[in-house]
Amino acid sequence: MSRLEDLSVSEALDLVLAQIGVLEAESVPLSDALGRILADPVVARDDLPPFANSSMDGYAVRAADLAGASKDSPVELRVLADIAAGMDLAIEIQPGTSARIMTGAPLPSGADAVVPVEDTDEPWRGQDRSLPQSISIYRSVESGAFVRYPGEDIRAGMTVLQAGHLLRPQEIGVLASLGIPRVHVIRRPRVGVLSTGDELIDVEAPLSPGKIRNSNSYAQAAQVLALGGVPVMLGVARDTEADIRAKLDKAVVEQVDLLISSAGVSVGAYDKVKEVLNGSGNVAFWRVRMRPGKPLAFGTYRDIPYLGLPGNPVSAMVSFETFVRPAILKLGGHSNFERPRIQAILLEDVRSDGRESYLRAVVTRDARGYVALTTGSQGSHILMSLVKANALLVVPEGVTEVAAGTPLTALMLDWSGEIF
Ligand code: AMP
Ligand code: MG
Repeated sequence: MSRLEDLSVSEALDLVLAQIGVLEAESVPLSDALGRILADPVVARDDLPPFANSSMDGYAVRAADLAGASKDSPVELRVLADIAAGMDLAIEIQPGTSARIMTGAPLPSGADAVVPVEDTDEPWRGQDRSLPQSISIYRSVESGAFVRYPGEDIRAGMTVLQAGHLLRPQEIGVLASLGIPRVHVIRRPRVGVLSTGDELIDVEAPLSPGKIRNSNSYAQAAQVLALGGVPVMLGVARDTEADIRAKLDKAVVEQVDLLISSAGVSVGAYDKVKEVLNGSGNVAFWRVRMRPGKPLAFGTYRDIPYLGLPGNPVSAMVSFETFVRPAILKLGGHSNFERPRIQAILLEDVRSDGRESYLRAVVTRDARGYVALTTGSQGSHILMSLVKANALLVVPEGVTEVAAGTPLTALMLDWSGEIF
């Protein structure tokens, strides 16, 4: 890897993704398959539905028997049987006969349609729901009415899902319907999460002078989890090369696929990450022209891809969004690494410093379409700017002032029903 010290966001992202490969597949039960990417195509072994069945509670009939039937001149049919869902009755509907049938119950042979119970005299017989000997039918039906035919949804032999397909709840439902209890999916990326800094104490510890709580480990682990990754917590390293190495070596033993750390990547006297990487791996770049989050290290530690994020909590989270999120998605087999992008009209004047800027913003919709307001102070330590945000608003490189009324690209972090 060459050492590049001043890259645009897209150049840096291309370099990161070029070093990341898709992980291998594993077999998992359906209950663990949500959000995963299929490694092999899925071929249906059965038709879905597997047999012709009723889509209504009603009467299975021969449509030809009901020509001209109406409320005023009903057709009376003898009732041969009562067919509940799950039954398998060997009966034959002959001309002039019918069977009461429930939703999902198999259509008996001889029948080619179902009449909903509402279109018969059954509901007008009071509380007695016992099987009538005959039934008056108030309408005609086409052959096939209210029948769900085998293979209407899926035909046996069909490739229902391709390799690379993201498994959402609806895909899980299809797999279950097809009797596929386990699937081959790309395994979950294991991501080592390290924080560095002598000032850091854990969440339970009381505050003491000069110390702050380590929020990055928790925020980054949550970001990993939200992407379907497995965070491997490496704790907090002191600002020494030796301690950072010791913590990273733990990650090597834990067989992580990606390492991330926060802080220690600027040019301060205690910023040791770069030296650690230079000694035991390599550093591909450590400056990106973005705001927040200029210092950013990318390289390898003992052949494991490594992203050193800036320490400030907002910078760490936005850099994660920009570089770690696509890397984790790629490891996990996803092909779309991007957040949904929309154009939103800025409702205020904003300034930038010429770096590509990711402003924390709230996007809403009004008569003008999507509109955006920044979430107050944009300091890289103001975590509440992200808490209030549903989007990152991108001010392009080279732009220092954007006037109210200008459309900007918004990367949507979530689409909250409250807002839209
Ligand atoms: P550094 O990159 O080490 O210069 O840190 C930049 C800023 O981020 C400093 O104010 C640090 O105290 C803060 N910081 C570093 N690591 C963390 C962390 N794990 N949680 C919260 N704040 C942090
Ligand atoms: Mg520090």
